[in-house]
Amino acid sequence: MDSTYKNILIKAYKNINSFKDEGQLATYIPELANVDPSMFGVHMTKIDGSNFGAGDYLEKFSIQSIAKVLTLTLAYKIIGEDLWKRIDVEPSGTKFDSLLLLETYKGIPRNPFVNSGAIVICDILISLLDNAKEEFLDFIRDISDLPDLTYSDKIADSEKKTGYKNVALCNFLKSFGNIKNEPDDVLDFYFDICSLEMTCQQLSQTFTFLANKGVKISDGKKVISKNKTKRINALMLTCGFYDESGEFAFRVGLPGKSGVGGGIVALYPDNYSIAVWSPQLNKHGNSYKGMELLENVTTHSELSIF
Ligand code: GLU
Repeated sequence: MDSTYKNILIKAYKNINSFKDEGQLATYIPELANVDPSMFGVHMTKIDGSNFGAGDYLEKFSIQSIAKVLTLTLAYKIIGEDLWKRIDVEPSGTKFDSLLLLETYKGIPRNPFVNSGAIVICDILISLLDNAKEEFLDFIRDISDLPDLTYSDKIADSEKKTGYKNVALCNFLKSFGNIKNEPDDVLDFYFDICSLEMTCQQLSQTFTFLANKGVKISDGKKVISKNKTKRINALMLTCGFYDESGEFAFRVGLPGKSGVGGGIVALYPDNYSIAVWSPQLNKHGNSYKGMELLENVTTHSELSIF
């Protein structure tokens, strides 16, 4: 990777790493509550394949809701625009697990990244595929070039034990007719997708297809069409950060997606994908240092979409 990018990343990393600790670990399951809060890593992959990381970028962490972009990609690839009959494309302005707007919009989730939307996507994949769990794994193993990638049983089991709101969301959606399969099966798949673990390096490499018009950079294979890539990126920009999506676009200026494990992936179309991880979350559930770092990087490199 050319030295301008490297220097920008190193400078931003050092600067933000010196910040005093701020934010809180997610505590709803032990697998997130027991993570070392000082972990902090960043990794960038350009679409020419050059890449660079700083800090703990080779440590695995729970990617949580970041996986929702990948389930969306697979469902959208298979059923196309019919997807939007069951899920809207509007920011919610509410918490990620809120039930509030489902009543107003008669069981149509506001977007695919709030929990209700991601649960409907899981339902759609179960209807479309013979074995959704396995076929989704095959799909992400292929786009990430990680043949051993798998669900974490430990994290998925903890999610199952504490996921009362998700159970409520799934049943509420079912009452409106927007879940076609058994809620237990849909939730089982949903908790599995939340349990995936990756490093910043793996995550930034995996998401390069969205910075590269839907095409994998390692072998030139098309993951999804150019037009659908544009729309997935638009959704990441407008809905990727819970009820802080506007703030992320305002400060960072890139499409991205966060997870409650403290990871964020963001991308600059036709240029690069970047993943950052620091498990201490701000009050909206987004990584505090992660957002600071990305703001610093896009401000100094002037490489944001704006
Ligand atoms: N497992 C979490 C849930 O479903 C994911 C939350 C997130 O990363 O936003 O509630």
